[in-house]
Amino acid sequence: MQSDIIYRSFKSYDHPTELVLMLTKEIQNGVLIATLIGSALFVLLFNEYVPYYILSLWLIVQFALSILRVYLSRKLELCTKKSDPLQASYLRYSIITTALGGFMWGVTSWLAVIYASEAYTYYILVIVMGLTAGAITTLGSIFHAYAAFMWSILLMLASSFIYQGDNAHIVIAIISILSATFLTGTGADYYLKMRKIIELSIELQSFNTVLEERVQKEVSRNVEKDIQLMHQSRLAQMGEMISMIAHQWRQPLHIISTAATDMDLKIQFGKIDDATCLKNIETINTLTQHLSGTIDDFRDFFKVTKERELTSVDEVVNVTLRIVKEYVENKKILISTDLDCSEQFNSYPNELKQVLLNLLKNAEDALLENWVKDASIHIKSYHDDAGYYFEVCDNAGGIDDEVMGKLFAAYFTTKEDAMGTGLGLYMSKKIIEEHCGGTLSVSNREEGACFKVALPREG
Ligand code: ADP
Repeated sequence: MQSDIIYRSFKSYDHPTELVLMLTKEIQNGVLIATLIGSALFVLLFNEYVPYYILSLWLIVQFALSILRVYLSRKLELCTKKSDPLQASYLRYSIITTALGGFMWGVTSWLAVIYASEAYTYYILVIVMGLTAGAITTLGSIFHAYAAFMWSILLMLASSFIYQGDNAHIVIAIISILSATFLTGTGADYYLKMRKIIELSIELQSFNTVLEERVQKEVSRNVEKDIQLMHQSRLAQMGEMISMIAHQWRQPLHIISTAATDMDLKIQFGKIDDATCLKNIETINTLTQHLSGTIDDFRDFFKVTKERELTSVDEVVNVTLRIVKEYVENKKILISTDLDCSEQFNSYPNELKQVLLNLLKNAEDALLENWVKDASIHIKSYHDDAGYYFEVCDNAGGIDDEVMGKLFAAYFTTKEDAMGTGLGLYMSKKIIEEHCGGTLSVSNREEGACFKVALPREG
């Protein structure tokens, strides 16, 4: 099991970029500090025993090696980041110099054996064991670097102990070799786990990217869907408005036609006089202006307001009622108003008119469906420090609890025979909440449903 882990770690040369960068970071941060502290400790312990020139030589080689290691790791880092093919060579050099670094620490145990007393060889043993165990976390991100470092130290240490020849030292040498084997297993295990973590995080990253793309696609699909829904709902509203306009035009057209027929008859019977002529022409003129006004209202109604415009809630209500009132009241539904919101603010007046039209149409449908006697719709507008409001309340009996939760969902309708599209309230909510930054809410009051639009004051 352990040997399999070591074998697998040893065979893996395709180190993940992240692990190579971890090694270079550790070498750059850790090597100089470890060299300084370790060397200072070594000089303090051995300056009395080891000849001055050997100590100096050891120090010089140790420092030169450390600088070389930092240089190579810097090169390795740059090549890794640029995916330069030289990366493999620099990694090899880094591993070789790391092994040499281990070798230099191993030399200290030979110096202890040759020049110092026996007790000092044990100090070295403790220091070396600490170094090799600690190196797992610093060099362990690349198994080969850690194994090279640890075995260089421990082989030097073991050979220095074997050199002394007595049983106690040979036992320690054997223990050192065994612990090196054990540490190799631990290092291999650490390395494989790090690899797994990196692989998982790469997988997670790509999963996240796929997810992000999918969310992006869904969002744009939603936007497209909303545009289509808006279009559908507008077409439905246009159909309703054409019926209203047709209704409004019927009577004036009839009067115009009567005036024309009146003049025609009088001309045929030679009874035409200037006064009748002028009166009839005036009637025709006034009515055609009225018809033209109606067409303008209709056209404006469906213009999309691209920029915010100055408007007021009362203006929105009055323009809408100009188109709707007569048509609705003709169905024996009384529309009453209590308007107190003429203060102007920047908003999207045409969109607000469409929302009000939706609310009025729904109230009308509910009143007709329930055969309500004395059917009425009440529109109230008001304002306070927080914003501007209008409410549309009817006396059609209100909305059932089970319907209440689905009211604003797209395509939800209770109307039969293609009478409803289920888009009116969905689009109204979108317009008020996403476009105008307000809220559209509903509640049941004593006599019927009450829809409330709240628009915030600017700034
Ligand atoms: P549609 O009018 O095409 O059905 P809406 O989104 O405008 O679509 O309305 C959804 C549903 O909400 C209606 O089918 C109706 O059941 C309910 N509703 C809306 N307004 C009222 C109201 N004033 N009174 C009772 N029910 C209402």
